[in-house]
This record gives sequence, structure tokens and C-alpha cells, in this order.
Amino acid sequence: MTDNYLLKDFEKEYPPVKELPKRILQMYNMYGRTEGKQCGECKYLCQRHFKNTYFKCEMTVISASSATDWRSRWEACGKFEQISGGE
Ligand code: SF4
Repeated sequence: MTDNYLLKDFEKEYPPVKELPKRILQMYNMYGRTEGKQCGECKYLCQRHFKNTYFKCEMTVISASSATDWRSRWEACGKFEQISGGE
């Protein structure tokens, strides 16, 4: 049994937590989180069309840079507002 084998067993039991980018962590720091909701359900998640189409958050800085790209699956921040037609 090698150390590598033990590490694989450990990772199976405790999968690594994916690190979130600074931009969404800053939103959590400023506004907290909205449990059970995701950015994809929020009215402030918008699409911007540059060379391609990207999700952006209207509650923070928006630019053509990928540094301001947003993900619909991220846990919602405290500024969350349900898009109309949702629960
Ligand atoms: S919940 Fe809404 S306001 Fe908050 S980060 Fe997501 S899209 Fe932006």
C-alpha cells in the first residue's frame, strides 16, 4: 500500500472542494448568501453579447473580460431576487 493509494481513498470519501473565484466570494462577503438559490434563478444574472454570449451579474462590474463572467450554478448571494415567473 502506497501513500498515493491512501490519498485516493481519502479523496473518494472527501472530494476536493472546488475553489470559487474571487468575484463571487466578494459578493458573499459583502451581501451574504441566499441558501437554496442559485445565480441562474436571479434577475440580476444577464447575458452580454461580445464575440460570444456570456453570463454576467448586473450587481457588480461588467466588462468584456472573462474576469467578470458569471456561472448560473453558483450559490446566490444576499442580493438575490427571484426572476419573475419563478417561485
Ligand atoms: S444572486 Fe444575483 S446578484 Fe447575487 S451574485 Fe448571483 S446574479 Fe449576482
